[in-house]
Amino acid sequence: MQSINPYTGKLLKEYDLYDEKQIEKALSLGQETFQGWRKEEFKKRKELMLAAAAELRENQEEYALLITREMGKVIQESRAEIEKCAWVCEYYAEKAEEFLSARAISLPDGKKAKVLYQPLGIVLAVMPWNFPFWQVFRFAAPTLMAGNVGILKHASNVPQCALAIQRVFENAGFPKGTFQSLLIDSKATNELIADPRIKAVTLTGSEKAGAAVASSAGNHIKKSLLELGGSDPFIVLEDADVEKAAKTAVKARMINFGQSCIAAKRFIVVEEVFESFLEAFTEEMKKLKSGNPEDDDADFACMARPDLAKELYEQVKKSEDAGAKIILGGGKPTEGKANFEPTILIDIPKNSPAYSEELFGPVATIFRVKNEKEAIALANDSEFGLGGSLWSQNLKRAELLAAEIETGAVFINSMTASNPHLPFGGVKKSGYGRELSQEGIREFVNAKTVFLG
Ligand code: NDP
Repeated sequence: MQSINPYTGKLLKEYDLYDEKQIEKALSLGQETFQGWRKEEFKKRKELMLAAAAELRENQEEYALLITREMGKVIQESRAEIEKCAWVCEYYAEKAEEFLSARAISLPDGKKAKVLYQPLGIVLAVMPWNFPFWQVFRFAAPTLMAGNVGILKHASNVPQCALAIQRVFENAGFPKGTFQSLLIDSKATNELIADPRIKAVTLTGSEKAGAAVASSAGNHIKKSLLELGGSDPFIVLEDADVEKAAKTAVKARMINFGQSCIAAKRFIVVEEVFESFLEAFTEEMKKLKSGNPEDDDADFACMARPDLAKELYEQVKKSEDAGAKIILGGGKPTEGKANFEPTILIDIPKNSPAYSEELFGPVATIFRVKNEKEAIALANDSEFGLGGSLWSQNLKRAELLAAEIETGAVFINSMTASNPHLPFGGVKKSGYGRELSQEGIREFVNAKTVFLG
């Protein structure tokens, strides 16, 4: 497994994949640790989770640099990612006990029952490279607080981050084996799912990876949670604050250089304000400064891998060939490099990749529609259903329309963003299940009914 800096192309470190013996050792340690951890009091779990938050904050620069060097995110965003991880640790440290407290039920005949929320055991997380710390912590904080233990199979291009995350929990004082990172490939991952000690699996990544992992889980009757791609609509109605919408739109598209599942990807603008939105959006895009990802003032640097840049360019090229118009960027990335030009497409035909596929990088597609009805129809004409954003100064109207959008979340007059307080997840091919908030911590527990006869 190679750790390569995508900005410089330099090999940073190389690791051998874990062999069968190492995997077995991790499984038996995880299983043994679970027997004690499941009985640990919330007070103790909370203390350790708060220590993990402190460990992250104290070493923010070191962890942020690791992210930037392995996947090319600009350093200011890496720092924010570490801060967000500390936040989710603190959130669940405070809330887990309340979220998992037993629910009393009184039956009509006067009898009573209780629902207990008990941990399952080892939960496997298959995670992506785009937010290499955040994606893992938003799984780990609730899962560990619920009394489960975690095993991580991280994306192959971020092995240093994977090992560093294990260290965060060890340094915080968690019992050995509460959280372990395994450097393994997809094949070993699917074998791992078959092991009876693995009780459930969560995956964030592409549809293809999700389908493979969920099939393995299904074959072995294990619960899975999938957080897959998105092609989030960002709808601007004629009564929106267009200037503000355009500014936010660029941020929403360009966060993490466009490599985010909940990045706004399809800008759907009512014709009355189309020209003014397009102009403001283009101006804002042009202001972004490229640079070395380790520079404090760089807005963007490069994509996470050369193959991802190449694939994105092919989607743009095919869309152009089908009739889409490029009004900014559109240049070909250098062969073997991860660079990419921020790009804007308009006049996108229905038969082009830009219409129907996820564009996982800095490419904005801007659609002109006649009215709100057309806007909602276009927003829903997608295989994906993760997030969405809707802009109107009439909040009542916006709320009514939000109910019509087929996604797991709609943000009104704001960009879609994950937040520990808010449930996060999708419908359609964006996946199933929820992370974060109370819904997130209840995914990997046994809701056990105890009837008091
Ligand atoms: P993948 O979906 O392939 O990778 C995500 C994780 O799944 C990685 O840990 C990967 O491991 C693992 N994985 C992949 N295939 C399998 C399999 N058959 N069985 C078990 N595990 C598997 O993402 P890519 O890096 O290839 O990115 C491609 C596209 O995925 C992006 O362009 C984007 O559309 C989408 N994506 C979505 C993300 C999101 O946040 N929803 C995040 C990242 C990507 P390994 O690295 O070893 O292959």
